[in-house]
Amino acid sequence: KVRVRFAPSPTGGLHLGGVRTALFNYLFARQRGGDFILRIEDTDQTRFVPGAEDYITDCLAWCGIHADESPNNPGHYGPYRQSERKASYREYAEQLVDAGFAYYAFDTAEELDEQRRLHPNFRYSHENRLNLRNSLSLPVSETTQLLAAGVPHTVRIKMPVDGTVSFEDMIRGRVLFDTNLVDDKVLLKADGMPTYHLAVVVDDKKMQISHVFRGEEWLPSAAVHVLLWEYLGWKDDMPSWAHLPLILKPDGNGKLSKRDGDRLGFPVYAMNWTDSKSGETTKGFREMGFLPQAFVNMLALLGWNDGTEQELFTTDELVAKFSVDRISKAGAKFDFEKAKWFNHEWIKRSSNEELLPQVRAVVAQHTEATVGDEYLLQVLDLVKERLTYVEDFWTQASFFVERPEKYDTDVVKSKWNAEKAAFFQQVAHKLDHMEQWDAPSLEAFFKAEIAASGMKVGELMMPFRVMLVGGKFGPDVFHILACLGREESIARIHAALP
Ligand code: GLU
Repeated sequence: KVRVRFAPSPTGGLHLGGVRTALFNYLFARQRGGDFILRIEDTDQTRFVPGAEDYITDCLAWCGIHADESPNNPGHYGPYRQSERKASYREYAEQLVDAGFAYYAFDTAEELDEQRRLHPNFRYSHENRLNLRNSLSLPVSETTQLLAAGVPHTVRIKMPVDGTVSFEDMIRGRVLFDTNLVDDKVLLKADGMPTYHLAVVVDDKKMQISHVFRGEEWLPSAAVHVLLWEYLGWKDDMPSWAHLPLILKPDGNGKLSKRDGDRLGFPVYAMNWTDSKSGETTKGFREMGFLPQAFVNMLALLGWNDGTEQELFTTDELVAKFSVDRISKAGAKFDFEKAKWFNHEWIKRSSNEELLPQVRAVVAQHTEATVGDEYLLQVLDLVKERLTYVEDFWTQASFFVERPEKYDTDVVKSKWNAEKAAFFQQVAHKLDHMEQWDAPSLEAFFKAEIAASGMKVGELMMPFRVMLVGGKFGPDVFHILACLGREESIARIHAALP
């Protein structure tokens, strides 16, 4: 059975790379009728951020990514937080030591710092492990004594010398590592907590994970993980790996990091804590006004496409069309302008009713005026095509809710004359007696009036628009009239006449 997991560390906000990893795992699981598991990798107590787990859960929910098993919705493979699985890791670390694949290291943090000071390229590896304080360099009796005395120690993997580790990546094909270039990573820390490397392998095994989609930044770690699967005797159960391409800035340079400080580094949505270290902005894609569907659609195309020109996909379509073969090896460029395009397209595709609650919220931010649903839906229909974000509703449509306070008087008054004033007086009067109040009738009426006046369409249309709207923007004038209604339209003409 297909079982995938998204395994974030609760160390901060969820950024594009992380949520894309979640999405690809999710799409794959859904397509194969498998399970999508959320596992919280909280073994690094120093980087733990309270609230981050809830934040991650909320972000996934906002994106419509629902876990079949998670800390809040446990299945048969729990607990789903690594800190709650602590007891199970030590036995595996010891099993590795007993088999000669790992060793105890007694070096203190100070000693290691000293080494790093003396040797700027210091790595704990086969080159120097015999000069350091561990169960490989010390006499057996001393190791036994130190362990018995409870001296703090770590367990490190013993990387083979002159070896090669290889595995088949679903995206990259065969990947090879020279074991001489990988250091003896810590597996179990002095506080008894496993490191990520040990925990990830033990948990993927115990949770029967079949496939792993994760960011390319984890590729170097795969060398250690593949060895651990082998050393623990689980090689046949090892999941298939897929390392997703990095997300790059539009110019293609540089890895996307949370410290980029620009929009690329925005989290999915605002965090309710302050990250003093990275000074992360608290504004996220949700607050910027992204619709979840647009956000998810945009994410899916960061490193994947279906081989056609199609760019707009619902989540159901993504589930149907997703394929590992079409994930690119090359970095995926994140272009904020393109992200905005997705949002614009999804606003256009959303029904007015779907958008109404958000539009209501935007209106409420700006005015206390009460506006009926019916009216708001009508207005939305007129301006929807012009919105990049739902917030733009106010810039595009506030004049439907509030009479303009200022007019672009230059337009109304330019080449203004008594003839025009008389024309609009008369139009206002006749509007009051119009039988049909709808856009086509209003248009026919107004055009006939212009023709009868002998003036040019261009001279009268723009002033008319400005009288209704306040400026030179907005949808079709006759639709505006139809929507504003008779009384309000006439009142605006009178109010604006210079
Ligand atoms: N805990 C790791 C992270 O924060 C998981 C990496 C993996 O998927 O193996 O992304």
